[in-house]
Amino acid sequence: MKKTNQFQAEISQMLDLVVNSLYSKKEIFLRELLSNASDAIDRAKFLALTDKSLVADNPEWKIQIAADSAAKTLTISDNGLGMDAEELERNLGTIASSGTKKFRQMLAEKGGDSLPELIGQFGVGFYAAFMVASKVEVETKKRGTEESFRWESDMSGSYTISDGERDFPGTSITLHLRDDQLEYLDYWRVADLVKKYSDFIAYPITFCKKDAPSDETEEAKKSRLEREAKPLNTMVALWKRQKKDVKQEEYDEFYKHLTRDWEKPFETIPFSGEGAVEFKALLFLPKKATMELFMPNRKRGLSLYVRNVFIGDDIEMLLPEYLRFVNGVVDSSDLPLNVSREMLQDDAVIRKIKDAVTVKVLSVLEEMKKKSPERYAEFYAAFGTVLKEGVHSDYARADRIKKLLKYPTARTEGGKSVFLEDYVRDMPSAQKDIYYILADREEDARRSPVLESARSHGCDVLLWCDPVDEYLSESIGEFEGKKFVNVAKGDVSFGSDEERNAEKAANEKAAETMKDFLSSVGKVLEKHVSEVRISTRLTSSPCCLVQQAHALPPSMVRMMRALKQDVPEEKRVLEINSSHPLVLKLKDMKGAEFEDAVGLLYDSALIAEGSTVPDGARFAAKIAELMMK
Ligand code: ADP
Repeated sequence: MKKTNQFQAEISQMLDLVVNSLYSKKEIFLRELLSNASDAIDRAKFLALTDKSLVADNPEWKIQIAADSAAKTLTISDNGLGMDAEELERNLGTIASSGTKKFRQMLAEKGGDSLPELIGQFGVGFYAAFMVASKVEVETKKRGTEESFRWESDMSGSYTISDGERDFPGTSITLHLRDDQLEYLDYWRVADLVKKYSDFIAYPITFCKKDAPSDETEEAKKSRLEREAKPLNTMVALWKRQKKDVKQEEYDEFYKHLTRDWEKPFETIPFSGEGAVEFKALLFLPKKATMELFMPNRKRGLSLYVRNVFIGDDIEMLLPEYLRFVNGVVDSSDLPLNVSREMLQDDAVIRKIKDAVTVKVLSVLEEMKKKSPERYAEFYAAFGTVLKEGVHSDYARADRIKKLLKYPTARTEGGKSVFLEDYVRDMPSAQKDIYYILADREEDARRSPVLESARSHGCDVLLWCDPVDEYLSESIGEFEGKKFVNVAKGDVSFGSDEERNAEKAANEKAAETMKDFLSSVGKVLEKHVSEVRISTRLTSSPCCLVQQAHALPPSMVRMMRALKQDVPEEKRVLEINSSHPLVLKLKDMKGAEFEDAVGLLYDSALIAEGSTVPDGARFAAKIAELMMK
């Protein structure tokens, strides 16, 4: 068999960039290939737990790097799982895998031009081989199958798959090095790279020279063979080593190996559980959030090892949803080796580990909040949105999580935000509740006339502008015994009890004297609002729109509509500032003039909150008319 296929378009694009990359760190190709080899052995070991026939050859797991100076080739071989023809085609011809998916995202986000320098900074996985090679051959035989296959490409936009000659399971990747990349045939160069990037790989990585120089003395040969017999890596799992014995760079490289992230981790958290369950964990907080965090079918969770055997790399039962940005490894000897995902689902040990991991992460965040607020702010900007979900989903720890939340407020400036405890501390003594306003954008919230009276009473208002805030408003309950109150909903008044009472009395009086006026306004706006009333929220604006106290939150309405439920259009309440000069003027108007003015008043209330007016053309015409006058 022999067939030639075109690469998927994104791959061709990526290969172009890889080839043209002038990036100095071409060396990372080795890290990528060794990572893949180690993954392939991990997977073979794992599958062999339930299918002994896969390890009928009784393998001694290992990875070998063979250099042939005459042929100018470097071959990286493993005796891991291998691939069948279909997998070869899928894995090395299309973009489906994690590292390359990230690459595709980057391409989409940044466009192709600016990328060459980025190439070397992160895992493009297997394709990184083309940074140093002009041609790559893959020979592979999948464990448990009889046939072997050969994949070959010289980056010309296509690859071929044909029958292979490999007679033992695993994969060998042969790189035909370009003439300016022959340094990778050198033992010392390779040994350095393995130390630098792949020291923690759990299987021995050895180097061998295929073609010894013809003038090699007996002695030189002896010392070379001795050298080559020793693995280049120490193979000690990082999470099992004492923190003080591990350099941050080693953690960084491990993190990159684990996550395929191209940046260093933001925070490294090694810890171990003792007592009820014994385990070792090495957790990382990444620097940036990826779109993946919000994808329904994302891979998430921690890698799990049981007594050094890799069980899986997305064990979501080890992490609550709201900490899904955490990466890392958990290694426990308290689990049986033959665990299946179903068993993990309600395993008491797993639950205890999850609890311990959750508490650890929260306490690291609490510590960070206390000791380095700026760092915490950086973390929060990336992952606050996800963390917030915990208030809703982790009832037992909701209070702890609430203390980690920050919000911009009507008073903050320049991207600053405050913790709830700061908000509460700064509340005027007469203020009983915590005020918030919901909006899609911070600017809209800040401009809202609804904030006027709160401001004039010295009350600050939290600006909730994250989509998740709206859901949270239903479940956040109380903080330090204080209720959360939406300032744009129902009856809200500010100030001391006396002030409120006085205001209420004044409003009732105004409502009485303005009764006819309010009902005429209501008639004109019948189609748009459910009620027109005197406002306690306004000082300088003539009017604003608020929700009825019992109104459904807009997110709920959207959801119900999506579920094809019949949700009637909710009309809002128009609140009027009874002492505003414009309102006083309106009172004296009649007929068409009155109707137009009321229409404009309503439209301007919409514009003030960042909404659009129902009939833009009419609005513009009326404004023009008004200006003419
Ligand atoms: P990633 O490793 O990020 O998934 P790669 O481009 O490096 O992306 O590899 C794509 C896929 O090819 C891997 O997910 C794996 O399934 C397969 N693969 C690569 N190298 C090997 C190998 N040495 N043995 C078995 N499978 C491999």
